[in-house]
Amino acid sequence: MRLSAGGFEIEATSVGGVETCYQLPQLGVCLDIGRCPDGAERQGTLLLTHAHIDHAAGLAYYVSMRGLMGAPPPRVFCPASAHPALSTILEAWSTLQADTKRCDLVGVQPGDEIPLGKTAFARVFRSPHRISTVGYTLCTRVKKLRPDLAAEPQAAIADRARAGEVVTEEHITPQLCFPGDTLIDVLESEPTVTTSRVLLLECTFFGTKVTPERARRNGHIHIDQIAERAHMFANEVVVLTHFSRRYHREEIEAEVAEKLPAGLRDRLVLLFEG
Ligand SMILES: [Zn+2]
Repeated sequence: MRLSAGGFEIEATSVGGVETCYQLPQLGVCLDIGRCPDGAERQGTLLLTHAHIDHAAGLAYYVSMRGLMGAPPPRVFCPASAHPALSTILEAWSTLQADTKRCDLVGVQPGDEIPLGKTAFARVFRSPHRISTVGYTLCTRVKKLRPDLAAEPQAAIADRARAGEVVTEEHITPQLCFPGDTLIDVLESEPTVTTSRVLLLECTFFGTKVTPERARRNGHIHIDQIAERAHMFANEVVVLTHFSRRYHREEIEAEVAEKLPAGLRDRLVLLFEG
């Protein structure tokens, strides 16, 4: 499914337990790789949230496809604890294919920054899930004139700069946040979840077939937990994703209409299969 949200074009595939991959062609970035859907191999950077198979199964295929198309080796980032096992998988496929290793695999920790372009970078944060997981917030960093100099003539500002004074200050804007598979607690533990312009938030469970308590034990979010915290979302767009296949589209739409307030529903995109 193709989405336009907050200035991003997103090619999105996300079904709970099946496959999750978001392609952001403007940045050349994939968020998780799923089973490596079409087009993913064109993105040169892959940010993996965790090593559950529905998020990471396509890693070796992605690396291999990049090689076949003659593209530079991708940069792949993953939680540091998943690095040894994912390296082993990539090396095993290299051996099987009599190939050379064509991937720069880097383990990351919460707090790390990954450069994505001139002004764009990804910030890594911890995401609470069943296994070691990190989320990524894609940010922009721009320099603007210090507000206290706004009324000063250009020539005077130039003089200050020539004399070595720092006349600009840095503005960091969280543009898009993706916590991966997560618990609702991430709304409190990571500020950019609720302040980024675009939020890709999993909502795996609805209704009473799986209770919010069971959703938590499984490391996921239930719609009731989002409803209870609806006032916290300051995002321009909230994309709800990763729906379990046990629900029909109509059930999900009815739950959203019933449980979420209009002020949040107006900013909501529901990511359905296909
Ligand atoms: Zn998972």
